[in-house]
Amino acid sequence: MNNVPDIFGSMVFNEKVMQQRLPRDVYKAMKKTILDGKRMDLSTANVVANTMKDWAIENGATHFTHWFQPMTGITAEKHDSFISPAGGGSAIMEFSGKELVQGEPDASSFPSGGLRATFEARGYTAWDPTSYAFIKDSTLYIPTAFCSYSGEVLDKKTPLLRSMEAINTQAMRVLKLFGNSDVTSVKTTVGPEQEYFLIDRELYNKRKDLLFTGRTLIGAKPPKGQELEDHYFGSIKPRVTAFMKELDEELWKLGVYAKTKHNEVAPAQHELAPIYTTTNISSDHNQLTMELMKKVAQKHGLACLLHEKPFDCVNGSGKHNNWSISTNTGVNLFEPGDTPHENAQFLLFLCAVIAAVDDYQDLLRISVASAGNDRRLGANEAPPAVVSMFLGEELSGILNAIEEGTAFDIRKKEHIKIGVHVLPRFFKDTTDRNRTSPFAFTGNKFEFRMLGSSDSIACTNIMINTAVAEELRKFADTLEKADNFNEACEQIIKDTIKSHKRIIFDGNGYDDEWVKEAERRGLSNYRTTPEALSHYIDKKNLELFNRHKVYTDAEVHSRYEILLENYTKVICIEAQTLLEMVKRDILPAVSLYSRDLCDSILQKRSLSKDAECIFEKETVKAIDMLSTTAYKDCAKLDELLKNMNYNENKLNLAMHCKDNLLPLMEKIRISCDSLEEITSSKCWPYPTYGDLLFSVN
Ligand code: ADP
Ligand code: MG
Repeated sequence: MNNVPDIFGSMVFNEKVMQQRLPRDVYKAMKKTILDGKRMDLSTANVVANTMKDWAIENGATHFTHWFQPMTGITAEKHDSFISPAGGGSAIMEFSGKELVQGEPDASSFPSGGLRATFEARGYTAWDPTSYAFIKDSTLYIPTAFCSYSGEVLDKKTPLLRSMEAINTQAMRVLKLFGNSDVTSVKTTVGPEQEYFLIDRELYNKRKDLLFTGRTLIGAKPPKGQELEDHYFGSIKPRVTAFMKELDEELWKLGVYAKTKHNEVAPAQHELAPIYTTTNISSDHNQLTMELMKKVAQKHGLACLLHEKPFDCVNGSGKHNNWSISTNTGVNLFEPGDTPHENAQFLLFLCAVIAAVDDYQDLLRISVASAGNDRRLGANEAPPAVVSMFLGEELSGILNAIEEGTAFDIRKKEHIKIGVHVLPRFFKDTTDRNRTSPFAFTGNKFEFRMLGSSDSIACTNIMINTAVAEELRKFADTLEKADNFNEACEQIIKDTIKSHKRIIFDGNGYDDEWVKEAERRGLSNYRTTPEALSHYIDKKNLELFNRHKVYTDAEVHSRYEILLENYTKVICIEAQTLLEMVKRDILPAVSLYSRDLCDSILQKRSLSKDAECIFEKETVKAIDMLSTTAYKDCAKLDELLKNMNYNENKLNLAMHCKDNLLPLMEKIRISCDSLEEITSSKCWPYPTYGDLLFSVN
């Protein structure tokens, strides 16, 4: 392999390349645009575009694309070549500033939740200079935001940038009050840990359910699953090692800090974690990571599954969103300090997060709501659908002592006065090994663990940033007016602990007892996507987004509709796929098998009249019973699908899918899985769970 530092970022138009290639004044203008988000004038943009093009061509590119993240949750791109006609049938390679700064994809087929219908038929993409351009597949990728002409955002990147701006504004107010005169801006940082499955591609191609829906819709439990826990952190198999090596190299070339890789709990399950970076870049990089995982897998004869619950009998895949705030001077605001002053600031920011998670539990749940993730949350493998926060015994103890005005350390009689006393030291290592909490403080960052493996991290971070910005805003409003800063600060901390401590839970989040306890505490528990989504448009949430200029009401409504529609579509596609599999593959297969058994009874009897043929007779009987049930249930499901009224209110439609389609699909699955267990492996039309989960060596 090449030297890693040499290949790292070799396909990225990064700081180093810009400095080397751009004229000094243009480089300065470019840096200003990156740092302050100032618009670039066209003549400067022309120089940047031309330099980018030359660099891209030297590195093998022939095309460019405005790369954006529409509300489908994945990325989109439309490629244009640099070619421009140049007399006499020849061509030159051109790329103008205008093409760099703004693009106009024919975007009428992207979901807009009714936004574009009412405003403008087309959308445009606008360059996001804060995320570096890069080369992939002979194409120069320009990260962009996607808007309608009247300004409504049609993507996930714009609101993410707006939410980062919101938290920057409010955090700066608070930091000023603490006298941090050297700090001029803060940015949120994220490191997402990504789980995935790898299975053999040939087997994958034989499963219509995996091909069409990303998950298995049927499949009997294999003799061995994850019960021995022999896969977790186990030695990595050679084919997987080769895949991971190539994935790392491809990611490094694109400037993604892929860092940790290991086997996860389920067989065939793995994880990749990058080193954290600024949230919007992290979000772009996570999209690239998911995309490359799929591509590189294919090259190795593998299929990468990013579905939240590809197999019923083993753990599904999630994503952990590690989040923090850091200042432009390099200080992590969630790093507890050593002085009373640092402690007070830490506690105040901590309280903002506690209040935000409590006040906006629903938004956090909504940010991870999807048909796929519903199968994982609350299934004793991932956090329940109840949002709660883990702080660790020591930090919880400190907060308790502050609230009650008691001494944290009994030997020292005095209680902690904010801004005067140093907090008792607590150790990072003891703060977190509670893996069951949805939102855990892990020493100097928070780890939100409810995300599904295929989720874009944009949505979650929009919610966290905006909610925390709101709590900081309230704190700043109070503190700016206060006569005695320390006292006001102490009061805010006490009040916050008192009114929001119900969200703190340090016990086992997978325990059923907790769900009951959470209900007693008045925490919300939205077990399914439609239940959660119905709260997206609650007044308090619309107000939040409006106040911080993250979403207009129309933008929230559009997202609400798109998500509901997506849920309904996913379930309908699953239902159609299941029907196709059962009616065209499974029922014909078991019928043939049954005929074989009957033939065998006849043949046996022709040899000996008294042949009992118990196995054959019992199996034929069972197949008949199960296939009759499956057939009848399929007819009912067919009927439900035919009668779906797509003009109906989107929430009702999603609820209908949840309440009527899903249970019926589950029932059909039970019949099919029982059939699988009694059908000859030669006759069964699909690779089994055992085949799929243990296919890669
Ligand atoms: P684990 O959760 O498995 O213990 P680590 O502690 O190694 O994993 O970290 C998980 C992720 O958290 C990594 O992607 C890491 O870069 C990220 N991380 C660490 N510090 C921060 C921070 N200040 N802000 C955001 N993410 C961070
Ligand atoms: Mg983790």
